[in-house]
Amino acid sequence: MARKLDYRLAREKMVKSQLIPRGIKDLKVLEAMEKIPRDRFVEEALVGEAYNDHPLPIGHNQTISQPYIVALMTEALALKGDEKVLEIGTGSGYQTAILAELAYKVYTVERIRALMIGARSILAQLNYNNILFKAFDGTLGWKEYEPYDAIIVTAGSPKLPQPLLDQLAEGGRLIIPTGGRSTQELIKVTKRRGNYIHKNLGGCRFVNLIGVHGWNE
Ligand code: SAH
Repeated sequence: MARKLDYRLAREKMVKSQLIPRGIKDLKVLEAMEKIPRDRFVEEALVGEAYNDHPLPIGHNQTISQPYIVALMTEALALKGDEKVLEIGTGSGYQTAILAELAYKVYTVERIRALMIGARSILAQLNYNNILFKAFDGTLGWKEYEPYDAIIVTAGSPKLPQPLLDQLAEGGRLIIPTGGRSTQELIKVTKRRGNYIHKNLGGCRFVNLIGVHGWNE
């Protein structure tokens, strides 16, 4: 009991000190971040750091993103609740849970099978039943269920993967870090009447997106 209470307070504090002051305004995003137990998505030894203002290792040389970055990317997707969302880079599954709270259906792709299995198990324990998982190269998208109203890529890419642009619905949004191997710019692409409108949301640091339309391993 006491532990749970502590985390609820930690979440409230995270929202009040890390998200709101930096400009996250979407109430549904703030509510989801206040609700979801981020501590469940990190290994036991790091639980005490789960709500800190930085990324954390999740094994296999990958990381769970900083809370602010999760909120920023989610807000940029402008979800209303009826969307099909494609996520590339399931990792811990934390961002997946946020998306599952805010959208109709989430299709999530992870290239490291062990991470996909871990995320699937914790998200089942948390009773999410609107998420489909796939262990695959997400730079190819997930053709079977296209088009997607929103696509989020949580690993840094050298360029915009063409299959992801192709799998966007009319009016759809793609959020993806692009640039070099160690630093990138967060890019939002909106598809309007066959045109792709770009917006730069600022600098960021992600692990590499590895695949046919990403980096070589
Ligand atoms: N949203 C996750 C971020 C994990 S880090 C979280 O907060 O936990 C990025 C993830 O992208 C890693 O798990 C990595 O294995 C995965 N990844 C990298 N290239 C990929 C690809 N081509 N397809 C699918 N997943 C990929």
